[in-house]
Formats: sequence, C-alpha cells, structure tokens
Amino acid sequence: MAVTTNKVQKTEGMTWRRYKDGESERNIRSAQDRIFQASWTHKCPEYMLSTPPCQGSCPAGEDIRGYLNIVRGIEKPPAGTTWQEYAFRRITEANPFPAVMGRVCPAPCESGCNRNMVEDHVGINAVEHFVGDWGIENGMKFTAAATETGKKVAIIGAGPAGLAAAYQLRLRGHGVTIFDEHEELGGMMRYGIPGFRTPREMLDSEISRIIEMGVETRLKTRVGTDISFDELDKSYDAIFLAMGAQAGRPLPVPGAEAPNCVTAVAFLRAFNEGRLQHVGNRVVVIGGGDTSIDVATVARRLGNVTKSGTHDERPENVIAGHMASDVASISAREGAEVVLVSRATMDKMAANKHEVEHALQEGIEIIGGVTPVAVVVDANGRATALRVAEFVMEGNQTKIIEGTERDLPGDLIVSAIGQAVDFTGIEQFNNNNGLIKTDKNYRFPGSEKIFVGGDVIRPHLLTTAIGHASIAVDGIDAFLKGKELDKRPKVDVHHFDEIRKWLESGHEYSEIHGQIWGTSERKDILHNFEDRSARHIIPHNELFLGHFPNTPRHIRDVTVLDKDAALGNFEERLHALSDKEVVDEAKRCMSCGQCFECDNCVVYCPQTAVFKVKKKDNPTVGRYVDTDYTKCIGCHICADVCPTGYIVMGMGD
Ligand SMILES: Cc1cc2nc3c(=O)[nH]c(=O)nc-3n(C[C@H](O)[C@H](O)[C@H](O)COP(=O)(O)OP(=O)(O)OC[C@H]3O[C@@H](n4cnc5c(N)ncnc54)[C@H](O)[C@@H]3O)c2cc1C
Ligand code: SF4
Ligand code: SF4
Repeated sequence: MAVTTNKVQKTEGMTWRRYKDGESERNIRSAQDRIFQASWTHKCPEYMLSTPPCQGSCPAGEDIRGYLNIVRGIEKPPAGTTWQEYAFRRITEANPFPAVMGRVCPAPCESGCNRNMVEDHVGINAVEHFVGDWGIENGMKFTAAATETGKKVAIIGAGPAGLAAAYQLRLRGHGVTIFDEHEELGGMMRYGIPGFRTPREMLDSEISRIIEMGVETRLKTRVGTDISFDELDKSYDAIFLAMGAQAGRPLPVPGAEAPNCVTAVAFLRAFNEGRLQHVGNRVVVIGGGDTSIDVATVARRLGNVTKSGTHDERPENVIAGHMASDVASISAREGAEVVLVSRATMDKMAANKHEVEHALQEGIEIIGGVTPVAVVVDANGRATALRVAEFVMEGNQTKIIEGTERDLPGDLIVSAIGQAVDFTGIEQFNNNNGLIKTDKNYRFPGSEKIFVGGDVIRPHLLTTAIGHASIAVDGIDAFLKGKELDKRPKVDVHHFDEIRKWLESGHEYSEIHGQIWGTSERKDILHNFEDRSARHIIPHNELFLGHFPNTPRHIRDVTVLDKDAALGNFEERLHALSDKEVVDEAKRCMSCGQCFECDNCVVYCPQTAVFKVKKKDNPTVGRYVDTDYTKCIGCHICADVCPTGYIVMGMGD
C-alpha cells in the first residue's frame, strides 16, 4: 500500500538570545558606551551586501536569496514578467536544471542556511522544484547570444557538466559540439539516477531547451576510440573534458570476478536503458551511498519473475549487454529479497537519511558496520553468497574480528563502492591517480585550450558538476577572446548584481569610481553602499535572529511505499509544493546580508535620519532605505535592529 509521509516539522528551535549567560552585562554596557559616545563618533550606517551561507554552500553558486526574494515579492520583476518566470531566469543563470535539482540535489545549501539557528532551514530545494516545474509547464526557453563569435568548442560528455557548459557557452555566442558515447544525452542523470527520482519527460525538457540554443550533438561517439582526441584538438578552438566517472569499481575481494557479481553503474545502466526487467530471488548490494540505495530500490521494484516462455535470461547477462530481458515471457512478478551492506553503521551511511528510511520501509534489509571479505562461488564459478565480517580499523588497515564472518546468500551481487574514470584512448589526461587535476579556473595544466569539469575531477554531485562548468566556461570565454584568465574570487558564486538590476529598472545611473558617502540626495549613484559579497559570507551571529518568530517549514509530500507496493511501482515519489506554500516558504527566508524591507531601521532610528526611499527613486534591491548623514549621530540602533545584517556601522573610522 502506498502511503504519504507524515511531515515532521520542526516547530521548536532555540530561543534566540543575542548574549549568552554571563556576557550580557559586559556587552550591554559596551553597547551603551557606544551610544553615549555617539556625539563624537564618525560612524554612520553603511549598506553592506554579503553572500548568504545558502549560496556559499551551493556548489552551483545559485543566487538563492535572490530567487526567494522574487518568489516572496520583495524583488519585483520588470513589467510584463511574472514572478515565476523572473525566479526561473534567476535560478537558471547559474543552473539550467532547476527541476532536476529540485528533486535530487541533496541540498548542501539547506545545511548551510542560517535559518537552522532559528528552528529549521528554508526549504530551498522545494522552491527550486516548484520553479523548475513551472518553467517546464510554461515552455520556458533559453536564448543564445544574438551574435556568434565564430569560435568552436568541443565538449566530451553530455552529463550535467557538459550540458551546463554548452548552455553557458551558447549564452556567450560560442559554437558548441557535444560528443557522447551514449545514445541519449544526460549522463548519470539518465543512465545512473532512476526515473522515479528524475522523471524522463522532465529531464528531456530541461535538456532540449539547452540543445535548442543551437548545440550540435554527436551521440554514440566515444572520444578516444570512435574519434581520436587529436582530431578534436585540430578542429576546435577549445575543449571541455566532462567524461564523468563511468566505470564502476569491482569488489576488491576474492571471488569478485564471478559473472553474477556486477557493478552498480552497469546494473543501473542496464535498468535505465530498459534492458533489465527483473533481478533474481536475492540481491546483495554493497555500498552505503546514494548509488547503493538506487540499486537496492530498483531491485526491489523489479523483483523476481516467473516466465511463461523458455527463456532463461540471467540478470548478469542482461547487465553485461549480452541480451535484454524478454518482457513478453514474464507471467508473474514477485518481490526479491534485497540486502544492503555497508561498512558504515546505518546512522553514518553517506546516503540521504530520508532515502535510507524509505528503503527500510520498502522492505530492504540494511546491515551496517560490516565489511565484505569474499564472494562465495559454486562449482560453476557463480556467486552464491557474499561473506561479510565485523571489523576494526587499525590506522588505514581493516582488521576483521575473527568469528564474526557470515554468508549473505545472493544470486546477484552488486558493488556500489565507487566509480572510476574510463581513460581508454585518452590516457594523457590521467594526471591524478585515475582522476584529472586542474588549476583554479579548471584548466588542464600545460594546455591553454583544455578545460575540465564534473566527476572527472572528483565524483560528487550534479550541482558540483554544474558549478565547475560555469567557472570553466568563464575561462574558456576569456581564452577565446585572447584575455588573461581572472583570479577567481574568494566567494566564487553567481553574485546578485546591484547595478544590472538598477539598469534593468530603467533608472539613470552614473558610473562612479570609488565610494561616494553622505550623498543621500543624489539619485543616479549607489552611495553608502559596499558590495563585499565576493569576500564575505554572512554568519548567523551578524543577523538579528530575535526578529524571526518560529515558523514551521513547508515540507513536500513524499509517497512512501511498503514492501508490496514497491514491486513494479516506478512512479515519482516526491510532490511539489502548491503556489501558496511556495510563497509562504520563501517568506521564511531571512534574506541574510541584504535588505528585505522590514522597516525596523526607519522605525527605531531616534534621529529620523534613516528614511524610506521614494518608490520612484528606488531602482535596485537594497535601496529601500537611505540615511541622511547630516542627522545621523552614529548611535548604531539601526544596525542592531536590522534582521538581515545589511547595516554595518562604518565610515570615517
Ligand atoms: C546511481 C547514481 C545516483 C546518483 N544520485 C545523485 C543524486 O541523487 N544527486 C546528485 O546530486 N548526484 C547524484 N549522483 C552523482 C551525479 O550523477 C554526478 O555527480 C554527475 O552526473 C556528474 O556529472 P558529469 O557531467 O561530470 O558526468 P556524467 O553525468 O557521468 O556524464 C558524463 C558523460 O560523458 C560520457 N563519456 C564518458 N567518456 C566519454 C568519452 N570518452 N567520449 C564521449 N563521451 C564520453 C558519458 O557517456 C556520460 O554521458 C549520482 C550518481 C550515480 C551514479
Ligand atoms: S543546486 Fe542544490 S545546493 Fe544549489 S540551491 Fe539547488 S538544492 Fe541547493
Ligand atoms: S535564511 Fe535565506 S538567505 Fe539566509 S541562509 Fe537561509 S535561505 Fe539563505
């Protein structure tokens, strides 16, 4: 029976206090001192834009605070654009896959979110999911640069890194050809992650709008075997290596060469290509990360079958590509026993906690804290069991605890212990023990025109591959224009651009070099403002957290299947928030490091020095308030009551 999860919302967080016990007297006295000395202080409020920690923790560097402020209505779209489209445009500046990301990104941004210090993080991933789906449902397209540069870039690999690079290159007008050995585009988004986590219609939509920008594709073409790298080198102005880590790692134990002992990558590829339609009676998976959960949940869904025909296609033959499952001959399907074995104990497994819980609910047995010792084989060399044992670590060495060995019977053993890069025919790039090492611009050492991104650098996440692609494309673009590559900023993300927003709103803007202070009358420049977002991520203790009442997070519904319901069920499980829920969730964002128009500074300023900028003179986000320095006495009350940490006392120091 399919059920919908009870949503467990965190409603109780810490009671917010600015000072800890024993600190209050000293701090309050010092604050009073500062107020009393205000008659001679030179300090006045500065408006200081910082990077929020959510954005700093997003490997793709999305302007998360920006799109949350758009969704909640603080940042207004230009006339004729809906907030949904504007939010979509903002997300996709950094990441052209919001619907994929909103479903399967483990959301490191949420772990970094300052709202965790109030009660619970903002549901960033859920907002991204909503906006991504809206983009698909409303036919959002990307537009390539109006002018072609005439330069040509070859991309090896059509996974998220390669496709994101193609997108960023087309935005700059460079010609792009992607080479991929598979029949279809998407890399591990299609051949690794199962369709009940990344539904294929959604994936196809997000990929096709990149291809429609004028990207040429050469599918079923493996660079290094079907076409040589030298040929690419001769024909293209720059090359981006994004081959991912396609080779699964076999188990490093005796007996692992048995034919029914396969890798997770091969297993999932056979399933995602539609060839693998069933597994055996008992599947043993070894891993602990998300890939092992994918294998286990797919095996649970496929189950064991009895057949009406005479075919005896064994799963390992299907996985090896020798044959495909004969769907027509399947007469009955029953659940397979699936056991997942992990060296880490269950609470320390790398896989997403929710996925582990769901796997358990689906009847998958998880055994943590044991290590594989051997694959037990029969007289024909076929695996019949995986032998595991408890162990202790002595330095880097695994020491088996004698007497703890036991055999877990299995007719299919799947190794999900990691992936490796397949360098066949392109061995010259293996400069880091099976991976590729680059400089900070993701340029391959010793070559001006070759750049790299994604799992070939270090197998990680989709968002990481997309982040690499953005930075690499900055480098490729500079190289193609004959420029030096920039030194990357300390906080290397897609920063909100105050001036671009100013110009977009149609207001007059005068470019001023250096900062202009105390000019609250001028309407054509940004004054008493400093952008420190390229070097500062604002921590929670620079915010006034007491401003934010406890508000439970809006949590998406998840269909959880039990043992019986999982069999043969390939439906998507995660359901998007509604329009209202998504706006309410965005309102939980504390807009760390940027004004969110709460009026506190205006209300509390004892000198009426802080004032609201008239709507018609307010060209960009963060100019909602301004200070008349002739009235300001430097008491810093505005800075103390600013919930977002946007006001910092400065100047004249
Ligand atoms: C089972 C599984 C589940 C995962 N789940 C998640 C998840 O839930 N969330 C998440 O964020 N990440 C997840 N990941 C990780 C994520 O999929 C990868 O980090 C990401 O896909 C890496 O992107 P990439 O573009 O570098 O490589 P890939 O996605 O691997 O794409 C590389 C492409 O290059 C092609 N290629 C390789 N060599 C050549 C060659 N010589 N010539 C031509 N083409 C070539 C391949 O065919 C492939 O299409 C998962 C990975 C796996 C395996
Ligand atoms: S890509 Fe991942 S880390 Fe970045 S905003 Fe989306 S969920 Fe967060
Ligand atoms: S509260 Fe908002 S701006 Fe601050 S870290 Fe969380 S999502 Fe980002």
